[in-house]
Amino acid sequence: AVLTLASPRPPQLTLRPGSRVLVTGGAGFIGFHLCRRLHSSGVRVVALDNFDPYYSQALKRAREARLSKMGVRVVEGDMCDTGLLTRLIMEHRITHVASMAAQAGVRYSLSHPQAYVRANVECFVSLLEALRTSTGVPLVYASSSSVYGANTKIPFSESDRIDNPSSLYAATKKADEAIAHVYHSLYGLSVTGLRFFTVYGPWGRPDMAYFSFTHRISHGRPIQVYARGSMRRDFTYIDDVVGGIVAALALGAPEEIFNLGNHRTETLSHFISVLERELGQPANKTMTAMALGDVPVTYADIDHARDKLGYEPSTTIDVGLHRFVQWYRSDDFLPEYAEVGDWNADSAKESL
Ligand code: NAD
Repeated sequence: AVLTLASPRPPQLTLRPGSRVLVTGGAGFIGFHLCRRLHSSGVRVVALDNFDPYYSQALKRAREARLSKMGVRVVEGDMCDTGLLTRLIMEHRITHVASMAAQAGVRYSLSHPQAYVRANVECFVSLLEALRTSTGVPLVYASSSSVYGANTKIPFSESDRIDNPSSLYAATKKADEAIAHVYHSLYGLSVTGLRFFTVYGPWGRPDMAYFSFTHRISHGRPIQVYARGSMRRDFTYIDDVVGGIVAALALGAPEEIFNLGNHRTETLSHFISVLERELGQPANKTMTAMALGDVPVTYADIDHARDKLGYEPSTTIDVGLHRFVQWYRSDDFLPEYAEVGDWNADSAKESL
């Protein structure tokens, strides 16, 4: 008899040791984890960050301290500075660039639209300008699931039309994809956009719901539950996402867009119940309507990333939230890391 075996999935791509990667937004949540992963696999890393005050600068400084201790070079500077970028690329003979720097968060874009245009559009163009003169250095950059807008056709596939961004944040990420496309078409730059889906984990962002919920529940404070908990999100654990970013760097495709999600979608209510179990404390929930700029569902089709990158997320929210809460309760966490600035003063504006 003939035995037919399903063809094994390709292993996730990795970068060659000796590669030299510039990570922008290296003191940010995803950038920090990416720097750590690259460094521990023998890749030389230079991190750039301007330590913007959107959320706790103490948290960004703590990430920086960790990186410096490992031997990762962290440069304080602005991605809008094309001259600085060009110098870093030349001096360190950079072979790949991963751009994680941005003004993130959907809700903040309602009150601070210009911050998004500057960081996500202007500074992104500055980076592309620097790359235009450094022939052959491929770019992998952060896009977002928000580009799908209030898309109701799920799961979201890279080939879906993205005509209806729901927030200024989403509009700037969509603009990045269009701008990257132009630099590829005109100058042959290698550009890969990664659409991340609600990334969470240790050393995460205090403006995001999982972090502020943990903090508030632990202190017996009420949490605001948008859309009465019916919103669905494809929550992706940080280590899974970082594996996908490294694989995209290794592929260095001429031009690509990948969804890097978890390929599961959970209601906010379920997510909160897992968190309550993990914390051993019930949440005091205030139910509210959906917030302006939010979308009812995100759900990633990840077949493309599976095929081309060997991307295979493996962390369930039970495991991922357990690890987050472990970090939150450890000596690595300081209460000041939970600070998000005046714009969040009414405590009801966490980003999903
Ligand atoms: P983050 O805010 O923790 O990290 C961004 C970092 O970029 C910050 O440390 C900030 O100081 C830095 N930065 C901002 N503007 C800069 C500039 N002009 N020059 C230099 N540094 C600058 O956010 P994150 O969650 O790590 O997100 C990383 C990327 O992924 C962002 O582009 C974000 O839009 C995107 N993204 C994140 C998620 C998520 O769930 N975390 C989801 C979708 C997309």
